[in-house]
Amino acid sequence: MNIFHVSAECYPIAKVGGLADVVGALPKYQTLLQQKVKVVVPKYKTSYVTQRKFKNVFKGNLKLGQKTYPFTVDTDPTNELGYELYLIDIPPFFGSANVYEWGQDAERFVTFQIAFLNWLIESKQFPDIIHIHDHHTGLIPFMLKFAHAYKSLSRVPTFLTIHNAQYHGDFGFEKLYLLPEFEHNKIGFLEWNGHINPLASAIKCAWQVSTVSPSYLEEMSFAANGLEDLLRHERPKSIGVLNGIDVDVWNPQSDSFLVQNYSTRSFKKGKEANKAALCEQFNLDPTKPLFAFIGRLVGEKGADLLPHMCSIVLNDFHQQVNILILGSGDPEVESHLQKLMPIYKGNYNAYIGYNEQVSHQIYAGADFLLMPSRVEPCGLNQMYALRYGTVPIVRRTGGLKDTIIDIGDFGYGICHDQASVEDVVYSIGRAIGLYKDEENMDKVIKTGMKINHSWEKVANTYLEVYKELIVKTADSW
Ligand code: ADP
Repeated sequence: MNIFHVSAECYPIAKVGGLADVVGALPKYQTLLQQKVKVVVPKYKTSYVTQRKFKNVFKGNLKLGQKTYPFTVDTDPTNELGYELYLIDIPPFFGSANVYEWGQDAERFVTFQIAFLNWLIESKQFPDIIHIHDHHTGLIPFMLKFAHAYKSLSRVPTFLTIHNAQYHGDFGFEKLYLLPEFEHNKIGFLEWNGHINPLASAIKCAWQVSTVSPSYLEEMSFAANGLEDLLRHERPKSIGVLNGIDVDVWNPQSDSFLVQNYSTRSFKKGKEANKAALCEQFNLDPTKPLFAFIGRLVGEKGADLLPHMCSIVLNDFHQQVNILILGSGDPEVESHLQKLMPIYKGNYNAYIGYNEQVSHQIYAGADFLLMPSRVEPCGLNQMYALRYGTVPIVRRTGGLKDTIIDIGDFGYGICHDQASVEDVVYSIGRAIGLYKDEENMDKVIKTGMKINHSWEKVANTYLEVYKELIVKTADSW
């Protein structure tokens, strides 16, 4: 099959969150299953991009209202990422390393999608499947169905994966001029609540919709930031497929960010060495259990609970624990977390920002990973934590519910039901109990490390659904 993934993020080219991890890994595993897989992303000027040489494969023009913009498509001839990578550059729109630019993203991602389709048309490519990810590429199914310029591609099945239904990318109808000419009586396929809503449009127009865990598929029907009715209506064409992880990138046996590599056999020594280095870097006490949080500091992740939770835990269990936070987001939460640093010096630290290397070191060096999420479509952090022998403490929601079994049920994590400070503190109490019971703690860690969440298991599920869509296309003509 000739599969195109089109996305705003892809690790290691440009990453903000889990979307990048998925788009950087799934295509590699699909390629290993003998498929011809291409990944198309904007050519941001990230360090990955600026440090490499790419080969130009196409030069074209696109119209945005009255203006014409030239664009280029480059590829990496080495295929070093394990799939064919294509980078689209439209000079005024992707001139910086920023994946997202507040206030300009409607223009940036509409042009990206138009450039992608123009490239297909003008270079006479006819994909078997176009797999789009989230709202940034959500207008492609509409344009394929109803825009005059792309009629010859209207038989190509489109597959939408919703990584997060909270974000829709909606913008006002005053920007309708951004879109190429289309059958005007089909304008309703763009609209939701009086706006052009790319995620809603994709849900309406894509041939198939998936989301990243079975539980999130259920939850979206009553919590999707206003799209609940639409999602319920389109449920017959929707499935929940649990994400996998890239076990080459996330491997404690070979991870070059770690001070010492380790396996399920050598995890005790390995984790001890990584914890010692991490504690030295962040002025923490390696003899105490280390609780960590990694992620966007936003309400969805329960990040607003962290400052109060940290104060309670560090006051009540002061002599017993360390807490380390890595993240950025809501300025108020950032500031609260920073204010705790001088108060609990030696037992608490926070790195406000994004740092891939530190994240790997935390997965390896921490004892417990906190995920008090309100919304977690899949969550990758808990799967990385398991693989690195760090016990996840999670709120039962979305993918967390689907991946973590509580130690009380002979599992390998600690679960609670509410996204509340009380529930997290209670779970931390249980975790301290587990930490003190060394034999049991080792057993729990080992069980978690052995769980296989590799994409290898999941990549085929997508291929099966693609095949069904291709058959449907043939039947409908
Ligand atoms: P999201 O909702 O943010 O996409 P996921 O759990 O799906 O959440 O994926 C988060 C990814 O982003 C993981 O690879 C995690 O390690 C990474 N990550 C999040 N915040 C940071 C940060 N501040 N520094 C480094 N990596 C981060």
